Amino acid sequence: MQISFMGGAQTVTGSKHLLSVNGKRLLVECGLFQGRRQESRERNQSFLFDPAKVDALLLTHAHIDHSGNIPNLVKQGFNGPIYATAATVDLAEVLLRDSAHLHEQDAYYVNKRHAEKDLPPIEPLYTQADVEEALPLMRGVDYGDPVPLDRGITATFLDAGHILGSASILFDIEENGRSFRLGITGDIGRANQPILRDPNRMRDLDVLLIECTYGSRLHPQSEDAAEELAKIIRRIYERKGRILIPAFAVGRTQTLVYMLHKLYNQNRIPDMPIYVDSPMALEATQIFRRHPECFDREMQRTFLRDRQDPFGFGRLKYVRNSEESKKLNDLGGPHIIISASGMAEGGRVLHHLMHTLDTPENLVLFVGYAAQHTLARKLMDGDKTVPIFGRPFNVDCEIQTLGHFSGHGDQHDLLEYAAYSPPDRLKSIFLIHGEAEGAKALTEKLTEKGYKDVRYPALGETIEIRV
Ligand SMILES: [Zn+2]
Repeated sequence: MQISFMGGAQTVTGSKHLLSVNGKRLLVECGLFQGRRQESRERNQSFLFDPAKVDALLLTHAHIDHSGNIPNLVKQGFNGPIYATAATVDLAEVLLRDSAHLHEQDAYYVNKRHAEKDLPPIEPLYTQADVEEALPLMRGVDYGDPVPLDRGITATFLDAGHILGSASILFDIEENGRSFRLGITGDIGRANQPILRDPNRMRDLDVLLIECTYGSRLHPQSEDAAEELAKIIRRIYERKGRILIPAFAVGRTQTLVYMLHKLYNQNRIPDMPIYVDSPMALEATQIFRRHPECFDREMQRTFLRDRQDPFGFGRLKYVRNSEESKKLNDLGGPHIIISASGMAEGGRVLHHLMHTLDTPENLVLFVGYAAQHTLARKLMDGDKTVPIFGRPFNVDCEIQTLGHFSGHGDQHDLLEYAAYSPPDRLKSIFLIHGEAEGAKALTEKLTEKGYKDVRYPALGETIEIRV
């Protein structure tokens, strides 16, 4: 068996892991590279393998850095089944349509500039039509049900507790008379998160591919998350500012809404308008409502027993069209706007940032991870001038990052995950989906725990697995 690291290798975006086993080629994830525009466009355009020769695709969850290049894969010849949990299939549909729209828009703006300079036009990475070709290939599977992929290869999806429908994928493989278990974590969530169940960890693995986004970090205790958020809201309310929260439309927004709902019910935040301004967040919220099978027990109780809508309450308004969205620009008095995208790479949040950054009373609150070179990362790093739509904007408002909301486990969680497969069993660990600092720290810790073969494969590297 061979594993080729075709994306999400030594970086956090573009996840693609190609398994060659028993003459079959299985791709796990087909994510989009994100970061510098030009560079991402080039990297996403072509694959480091032939899409037509891939037999099946397995998807851990719907986030675009894991799913976002599927339409291009299909456009370039992939025609096999795409396995994912039912909730992931629903969310991926919304996310991929949105992604196609962004690529079409991006190409439109680039082509306007190209026309001025007499340069040839570019094609969007993929279009709405390409998405429609890809969607029928998706097959929803249930957590815990073994999916036979081919003779000697079975995949089981286990709840990863990261976003709705997220999974780790456990492969039971028989090759040349030997049986072994290989696990790919996908993104690992955290225990005690609102809405979702705790991660169901794969155990007794021979080979583990583990994400290491936060391999060097420890999160603050999650019990404080609600109070931290409440404190910030009370503080900005006092000075009559705006709180702008760039948040992923899928997952993070619903978590925030759920928490704000609870804080509001408990009178822990002042009575102020809250706007969710992202059409995709609204669609995603409807999908959340359709998949209560993914909820944890607390959520089941709230949802089923009290018949309350966890994602809606009096002070909260979902902004539907761009007219309503524009009206928010000049809104006075304290208020909260939650808008996508989380890394501030596109979407309505860019317009809100343009109308928020110049006022000292305002706060831009980040509640998630931001990859290098993204606008969110620049703001989090304290840049005093940032580019939006190619124009420089001064940053005069307050910027804060709340680590509590991370959808990814920290170093402690990752070590605990690995511990479910003891060092005498687990032959090889491959660190994926992480930057060098996290990988280095996690490698040291895992080595201390007795794991002998811990690697951080490079993009394009193929490794022969011997068990
Ligand atoms: Zn994710």
